[in-house]
Parts: sequence; structure tokens; C-alpha cells
Amino acid sequence: LFAGVADFLSSAPTVAALPPMKGVEIAFAGRSNVGKSSLVNALTGRNTLARTSHTPGRTQQLNFFDIGGRLTLVDMPGYGYAAVEKTKVEAWTDLIHDYLKGRANLARVFMLIDSRHGLKSIDTDVLDGLDKAAVSYQIVLTKGDALKKAEIEARIAGIRSAIAKRPAAYPEILLTSSRDDRGVPELRASVARLLSE
Ligand code: GDP
Repeated sequence: LFAGVADFLSSAPTVAALPPMKGVEIAFAGRSNVGKSSLVNALTGRNTLARTSHTPGRTQQLNFFDIGGRLTLVDMPGYGYAAVEKTKVEAWTDLIHDYLKGRANLARVFMLIDSRHGLKSIDTDVLDGLDKAAVSYQIVLTKGDALKKAEIEARIAGIRSAIAKRPAAYPEILLTSSRDDRGVPELRASVARLLSE
């Protein structure tokens, strides 16, 4: 699935500029610095995304990538960056909201959470939005290499109970690290299952 190239499709600063829907779409979201670029690069085996999402001007946009013609990967702008002023936060929320409600082929949002920090209130705000819009999402813990085994278990247990009553949450929580590649095959399998559904 990810053996091919990840071709950059387009950036969308407004919903009017979204590329046409094609194949199955998956999106990656998380707080700034959660490790999104690193994980998506580990997943796709490409370095395209890191460069793209760190290009000034593209960082506040939805970036679309074509994976082998059947899958579209959407890199959502990181949220929760303290220096971003309020108007930009509102523009972010409006863009995401419009994107999520109008995207029939969006199969799942992978919600990245830093395993060291767990769910922050801004993350739960985003989960509230996804539940409200009935957009299916799966929690993916990042930087799993930075925690001890017992800490990982406690973190997963905490998040499991935090999402238990959330209607749009997929129950399986993935623990990943782009440093040591753990959980990356499982994430890839999770994406592959969406394509075969
Ligand atoms: P983004 O802003 O969400 O795209 O995050 P980046 O991928 O740019 O990573 C943010 C920071 O976290 C960088 O300093 C990375 O080196 C670090 N980082 C990313 N992935 C991992 C990981 O799996 N383990 C650890 N320990 N650090 C990571």
C-alpha cells in the first residue's frame, strides 16, 4: 500500500480549494509538535510530508497527498500552538469544521496524542468536535519510546476510559514511535483495513 510514492496533491487554505474527493481519505491531526510529520513519514516511508508541513504558509493549511491512487492522506495543521493569535485559531477551526462536515469519503481521522502528555483540554475540544460531526477517529499515541512499560500501560488505560463513552471513537488505541518504528506496522494495517471495508 505505502510502497509507492506519496504525491503531493494540493494545499487548501479554504474549503473552496479542497481537491475533488477520490478514493478513501484518511486524515492526521494533533497538537503542534506531537510528532505528526515524523510518524506520517515513518508510515509512508517518505520524507515529503515533513518538508511540506514545515513550509511557511502551508503549515496552516490542509495538505493532501495521493498514495497510489486509492488513498488520499490529509495532513491537518497542528493545533494548540501558543503563539498563534486568536484570529488564526478561529480560521483553523472554521476550515477544519467545513472540511469535516463535507467530506463523505473521509474514513477516519487519526488523532495523534503525545504519550508523555496524554489528552490535553485542547485535544478533548477537538474530540468533542469530531463526536459532534460523527467523524470516526482513532487515538494514536506518539513517542512511545520515551515511556517505560508501566507508564505506557497507565497512559493507555487512562485514554481508554476517557474515550469509552465517545460515540465516534474507534476503541483500539495504537502506541507508536517513529524513533523505533513500534506500532507503525499496526497503524499501516489499520489504514489497509479501511481500504478493504
Ligand atoms: P509535528 O510538529 O507534529 O509535525 O512534529 P515533528 O514530527 O516535527 O516532531 C516534533 C518533535 O518531536 C521533534 O523534535 C522530533 O524529533 C520529536 N519526535 C518525533 N517523533 C518522535 C518519536 O517517535 N520519539 C521521540 N522521542 N521524539 C519524537
